[in-house]
Amino acid sequence: MEAGPPRPIVQESFISTSFTTLGLAPELLRAVAEQGYTHPTPIQAQAIPVVLAGKDLLAAAQTGTGKTAGFTLPLLQLLHSRGPSRAIRALILVPTRELAAQVQESVRVYGKYKPLRSTTIFGGVNINPQIQELRRGVDIVVATPGRLLDHVQQKTIDLRAIEILVLDEADRMLDMGFIHDIRRIIGLLPRQRQNLMFSATFPEEIRKLAASFMRSPATVEVARRNTPAELVAQVQHPVPASRKRELLAHLVKEGNWHQVLVFTRTKHGANRLAKQLNASGIDADAIHGNKSQPQRTRVLRRFKDNELQVLVATDIAARGIDIEELPHVVNFDLPHVAEDYVHRIGRTGRAGASGEAVSLVSPEERSLMAAIEKLMNRKVEQRAVSGFESAGAPEQRHPQPGHGRHRPQQQRRGQPQARRAQPQRRSQQPHRAPQPAAPAPQQKAQRIEYPRSVSRG
Ligand code: AMP
Repeated sequence: MEAGPPRPIVQESFISTSFTTLGLAPELLRAVAEQGYTHPTPIQAQAIPVVLAGKDLLAAAQTGTGKTAGFTLPLLQLLHSRGPSRAIRALILVPTRELAAQVQESVRVYGKYKPLRSTTIFGGVNINPQIQELRRGVDIVVATPGRLLDHVQQKTIDLRAIEILVLDEADRMLDMGFIHDIRRIIGLLPRQRQNLMFSATFPEEIRKLAASFMRSPATVEVARRNTPAELVAQVQHPVPASRKRELLAHLVKEGNWHQVLVFTRTKHGANRLAKQLNASGIDADAIHGNKSQPQRTRVLRRFKDNELQVLVATDIAARGIDIEELPHVVNFDLPHVAEDYVHRIGRTGRAGASGEAVSLVSPEERSLMAAIEKLMNRKVEQRAVSGFESAGAPEQRHPQPGHGRHRPQQQRRGQPQARRAQPQRRSQQPHRAPQPAAPAPQQKAQRIEYPRSVSRG
């Protein structure tokens, strides 16, 4: 199949399927109708019957495809049909607290007329209220792996009655280093259970993980991986690193941009940029893992309500932010893993809306953009902004090959020395030319290393 974006596939499916043919109970259909959904998305049309039949499911689906309802609706129906219980029967593992909160919200919304008790478990907040909730008895737990294991250790959670396990955004959980936690958790569950795994991408390590615990899963794919939404207009502005902030302020002001999601590589960079934008008269705030959950929730709420003009985020913090029709995504720093670019720009142009993804590309980052273009198999239009152009071509003097899984081919073959010189931590990438002879101290922090260690172990 030719590479294509999720959206048109959604349209095709609309023609032939309706929610009523999927075998869902009337109470769930009613909740779905109240959400204004008229037709199931492709992932829902394919996944719901499989899950209702009690089969394991391996689904390739990105955020924005409707995957959450794809597993939540049949899960609610199955648990409800099996009658009341005091035990936790479904465990949904997710990579971030934001996604945990969103998934539980879906459980609540879709389960409005077939109520089951659910709770979220994630780190960064006091564990005691979570313990209280668990004591009261819940059917469904939505959890991030680390905090879940804290509960296991404290014996405040009992996973022995789990009937359904869902791994949501599995590739991202692996990227975040949760593989060992996930394996430990799976080892604590009853052998007899149903397994559902959702992942945007299917690299080798995901397939290995799936093979290790799933039983002849049905596979469903609704969008080829690494295919950015067709509707997202992409542009890159060449600019020296030292002038990026100025250019961003200029673009936001001149274009009268609102609801701008800006990606930086580090938490520190996110904070600093938000402060600098504030100083330029732009209402900006940052969201990242160091902020408390109430702080993050408050900032997100303001952004969603279109009160906050610019939200600066790191990749991990932004994961799971579900805002439709986000008009502008800005890559203030280019990501070092090309796939992250695709995740980032996928946040615009959802729900059929057109969006714009803007990348500020310093000379040092041109090779990263080349890797991104290679991954997407398309060029990103280059447009200099008058007065902010990059000078010269310093990347010739400081070659910087792409990082991670998608290093450009010619660099792989042609520049072995430079390649060894690059493995800086993802979190330690400042806007300066790379140090050519740096040692390779932090391999573990590079995403590509997790899968390798998994396949060895
Ligand atoms: P997800 O991929 O699960 O994060 O869902 C993305 C967005 O699609 C959410 O805002 C859902 O509310 C919305 N959504 C889910 N299912 C449907 C549907 N069948 N029709 C329209 N919107 C939907």
